[in-house]
Amino acid sequence: MPVPCAIETGWPRARAGAVLTIDLAAIRANYRLLRARAGGAECAAVVKADAYGLGAAQVAPTLEEEGARTFFVAHIDEGIALRRHVSPGARIIVLHGALPQTEDEFVRHDLVPVINDIDQLRRWRAQAAMLARPLPAVLQLDTGMSRFGLAERDVHAIADDPDALRGMDVRLVMSHLACADDPADPASGRQRVRLLHLRGYLPRAPASLSASSGIFLGPDFHFDLVRPGAALYGVAPNATRPHPLHPVVRLQARILQTRTIGPDDGVGYGLTYRPVSPRRIATIATGYADGFMRSGAQDGCAWLDGVRLPVLGRISMDSMTVDVTNAPERLIHPGAMVDLLDARRGVDDVARAAGTIGYEILTALGHRYHRAYVAEPAPASF
Ligand SMILES: *Cc1c(COP(=O)(O)O)cnc(C)c1O
Repeated sequence: MPVPCAIETGWPRARAGAVLTIDLAAIRANYRLLRARAGGAECAAVVKADAYGLGAAQVAPTLEEEGARTFFVAHIDEGIALRRHVSPGARIIVLHGALPQTEDEFVRHDLVPVINDIDQLRRWRAQAAMLARPLPAVLQLDTGMSRFGLAERDVHAIADDPDALRGMDVRLVMSHLACADDPADPASGRQRVRLLHLRGYLPRAPASLSASSGIFLGPDFHFDLVRPGAALYGVAPNATRPHPLHPVVRLQARILQTRTIGPDDGVGYGLTYRPVSPRRIATIATGYADGFMRSGAQDGCAWLDGVRLPVLGRISMDSMTVDVTNAPERLIHPGAMVDLLDARRGVDDVARAAGTIGYEILTALGHRYHRAYVAEPAPASF
């Protein structure tokens, strides 16, 4: 499906307190890079949680143009919504599988459930029997993470029952790595061996083990299909090594008000910041309701013209206060924009300061932004 061309969404730019710019060209480049890393394996795209908060309606058609044919979502309703944004031939796989009584909706919207347990298998088989035609299915095996998937005894039960997969067109056998972000962790190798072992009991089908981080563990982990999500959106696949992925998001927030404070003053709820000398401060239009968490705020900052603006005091729901003492006065006025996320200080840097991971920063970004989808990187303002 063509990528929509008028891609400015959210609140009007002139009135919005913050502007989120999403670089679709960078997402394309990341997809090409991951596909090349995965060698001959098919490179699917994980677009659950509205493409990690960036907008599946824009991201999925962009990736389809780049050659993606298989998309993963978590919930059935994410799959139903995605159906409208990709071609009829695109495969949509629903990671959570089918809850009881939702099987007919999977058929109606051409969604493929991941089969995570024997009961899901029984119900999907019954659906196939009722329709008197085979239905596509993805079997997930638990190789050690204890989160989703058929246990070893379930695999044996399937292998011992000639009718277990009757009417099931098994398109993929998959599992998920628990520790792939640490290349030195031996758990990944053990999970790989378990996948190789368990799939031997099942009918021949393509296999998949790796998400973003697993792709960087090397060819042994690629199997027939890889499932990157975070890396498409510029999140580092592991904490220890440099990576080639392009940053995707830029977030700029507007200054609403400025003032000068002195040693008798305090800032924000609880007055947790008290200056020892006079400071110029600015209140900016982004807070925890917009995804900037209160935890770790003492290490948070914004940037203006290359000048670091430390966060002062607690983050409020709709605003936060930053120290602009060292920024050029001509740039500090209501409506001016400061950078909260950009190519130099990306989601992983902000995550580190907040004591979390880039995934959480991305998926927490709120809905009160003006969103601009661009095909070229935004020009730097510093
Ligand atoms: C979320 C998810 C992915 C994508 O993971 P990333 O680390 O974002 O690449 C792949 N597979 C499964 C089963 C997932 O839940």
